[in-house]
Amino acid sequence: MAQHYLRTFRPFTLEEVKKSLLVIGDLTGNCAACNALGINAYETKACPECGAVFKYIASRRLESHPSERFRLARRLAEKRPDLILIDYQDYQKAAGDKAARDFFSV
Ligand SMILES: [Zn+2]
Repeated sequence: MAQHYLRTFRPFTLEEVKKSLLVIGDLTGNCAACNALGINAYETKACPECGAVFKYIASRRLESHPSERFRLARRLAEKRPDLILIDYQDYQKAAGDKAARDFFSV
């Protein structure tokens, strides 16, 4: 039977996600924990710079190429079944909200 990709919403702790998040750009990925660049998103299990073991993956292309969204999701699910695909915009928004909260609570 054909499979479809449907987005789900689950609660995450932002700090936990950031420690194990690989963000993919157009060609390579970067580590959300230390911002190391040039990571091969399809093969790298842990960040070569800080050693973070990746558990989550987010793609900038899902935002910039919405028509490719589900093709990209399928490719990532096939290449990285070990990683949980999260929505980059959701992550960015949560990180921005947290930064603002931290700033104003000082
Ligand atoms: Zn890193």
